[in-house]
Amino acid sequence: MIYFSNPYHQYLAQSKDIKNAINSFLKRGSYILGEEVKNFENDFSKYCDSKYGIGVNSGTDAIFLALKAINIQYGDEVITTSHTAIATVSAIISSGATPVLVDINSHTLNMDYNKVNESITKKTKAILAVHMYGNPVEIDQISRIAKKNKILLIEDCAQATGALYKDKKVGSYGVMGCFSFYPTKNLGSLGDGGMIVTSNIKLANKIKRIRQYGWDDKRSIKYIGINSRLDEFHATVLKTKLKNLDKDNNLRNKIADFYSRNLDLNKFKIPVKNNYSKHVYHLYVIQTNNRNQILKSLFKKNIFAGVHYRKAVHQEKIYLSKCRVSKSGLKSTNEIVKKIISLPIYPQLKINDVKYICDVMNSIDF
Ligand SMILES: *Cc1c(COP(=O)(O)O)cnc(C)c1O
Repeated sequence: MIYFSNPYHQYLAQSKDIKNAINSFLKRGSYILGEEVKNFENDFSKYCDSKYGIGVNSGTDAIFLALKAINIQYGDEVITTSHTAIATVSAIISSGATPVLVDINSHTLNMDYNKVNESITKKTKAILAVHMYGNPVEIDQISRIAKKNKILLIEDCAQATGALYKDKKVGSYGVMGCFSFYPTKNLGSLGDGGMIVTSNIKLANKIKRIRQYGWDDKRSIKYIGINSRLDEFHATVLKTKLKNLDKDNNLRNKIADFYSRNLDLNKFKIPVKNNYSKHVYHLYVIQTNNRNQILKSLFKKNIFAGVHYRKAVHQEKIYLSKCRVSKSGLKSTNEIVKKIISLPIYPQLKINDVKYICDVMNSIDF
């Protein structure tokens, strides 16, 4: 079976280095917030063109803590999209704020920045912009809108670690960038993990406190906090894997280019990418009107494609009850959600397999 992602193969590709790193971790006997986390926070923030990194327990927590760091609370509004991982919206709701859902652009599948202005009210405190599938959102445009309205921009980079918008890494445009190290992500650990990057020292220090009960180094308390630490174990693994991330992202680009050149464009709409940003293809997502038939045909040929996601967030009733939908509605979101298929893509996927998938796809009759 060829799966749409394969973290085990990603582990195998670096198993020697990872095992060596884990062995030294075992010998050190330090488990929580030690040198490894500090070193990885430094490496990762530098990699992301940001000054500070704060390791946390997950991507969801990264977003939650970023919102708490700017004092988001009940009654506030945070603008985001409905075509995203449930986690994006879940974190906003946990912070107490009301997520305000704006439509996506049907080509980029990212936030339609033309729909942001109409959604801003006196209650709006932040825009949480998601870089879906590894494709950078139009962050310049969104940043301009945020500045003009004196609201803060936070980036959800969970699917886009290493992606570039113009000459800078995603996560460095907003006041904070939030990352996930869930095993299937472009930089994935052997378990859960996340990071917030920022170049604002006050925010960095505040997040460091609230990720651990509110404590500072001397255990004095100024804020209410939670427990959301990145483990030394995961920092060890991630520090090792970070060295290969650019190489891995380039391999993803090669696979994506092969798909884009070989899939029948009369049958499938392929992802867009522009020449001023670097897409990192967390997922390679095509659009079709014949999804069920295609998924079935692929499955018969041992290809397990995915759908990210089967439902937009607002299509989950209990989530919708905590959200506000933007005035002009979610037309593109509702259309796209029926059409998307994630084809297999991960750095270790062989081009021969990609060719096989293209052949199977092109030979499906509809
Ligand atoms: C994966 C993901 C998250 C959440 O990350 P976790 O580490 O699973 O909590 C948030 N936003 C997006 C867009 C994601 O893809």
